[in-house]
Amino acid sequence: MNVCVICDSPLNGRECIIENIPVYQGCVDTPIEDDIIQDMHWKECDVCSTIQIINLPREEDVYLKGHAAGIGKVWEDHNEQFIRFIEKNKPVRISEVGGGSGDLARMSSIEWRMYEPHPPNEISTYRDIDFIRDFYSHDNARESIVFSHVLEHLRFPKQMISDIYSSDTRKIFLAWPQLDKWVEDGIPGAINYEHFFYCTYETLIEFFSTNGFKLQDKEDFENHSHFLCFTKSEKTSELFSQNKSNFIKVENFFRKIREIKIEKPSYFMPASIYSQYYILQNPELCLGVLDNSSDKHGKRLYGTNAIVQPPTNIDLKNNNVVVSGPHKKEILDGLKRLQEHS
Ligand SMILES: [Zn+2]
Repeated sequence: MNVCVICDSPLNGRECIIENIPVYQGCVDTPIEDDIIQDMHWKECDVCSTIQIINLPREEDVYLKGHAAGIGKVWEDHNEQFIRFIEKNKPVRISEVGGGSGDLARMSSIEWRMYEPHPPNEISTYRDIDFIRDFYSHDNARESIVFSHVLEHLRFPKQMISDIYSSDTRKIFLAWPQLDKWVEDGIPGAINYEHFFYCTYETLIEFFSTNGFKLQDKEDFENHSHFLCFTKSEKTSELFSQNKSNFIKVENFFRKIREIKIEKPSYFMPASIYSQYYILQNPELCLGVLDNSSDKHGKRLYGTNAIVQPPTNIDLKNNNVVVSGPHKKEILDGLKRLQEHS
């Protein structure tokens, strides 16, 4: 990719290379020899200051087993608040792009159709949902469209928004990770082969307005996500504000990740990209990887030799567990409860 995903300009800015990053961030039952590890080439757009990966692996390698489903209390709260936000802005009929587990569709009282080409295994849980097992099509566009942590995964987000503009859709609801915060705090996984571009919140709003969608309403969900509602309007001129510090932020982000040091042999939790980076930096200190999700148990965390176990398998009182990622607090609370009851 040699043009910017946000503003379509040729990429002529600064470059940095992050070596040896596994292309997939989930768990597998294939041998480690099959894993693809490659260097990430990041490049700056000197028009809109977005930083993006220019040597993206194939999508089928990045999303080997589909996108990680959001489970747990944080996601439940996220979805509840997002539904309230959507309903407050009075959509008429909704299409959701990439509805994952179908949780939003199930919670809403509004007429809701979701498009999901890779539904989770428990397809029966979709029975009560208007669900299309395919990529989104603009042919049957509805008045409103919803993206919950999906748009930032699309290889061509500008094309998507521009196609929506040409369709009958008039409102866009977006749940977007607070990447400014995640990158600044050095949360592993904030940017990666899935979240392959980094722009500020300000640039995101400019991206929508230059493509004909004006910000109508906004709410924050903790330090986790922005909930945004855009309505169709005149396209504004293609003027983007410059954020020269974006590039430094991305460099610092990876420097922080590279400097992660663990003092003693430890277990890592959860079995995802958040632990992947820690283990890659400290492979000799990894005792194993823990996760609450039963469909990961017995599998190997991609890019590492670590096999996933439930936290109930280990003696929590006498072992160190390194917990990371944006859901750290929720996981730690769960471990504390386990320890008290053991
Ligand atoms: Zn750009």
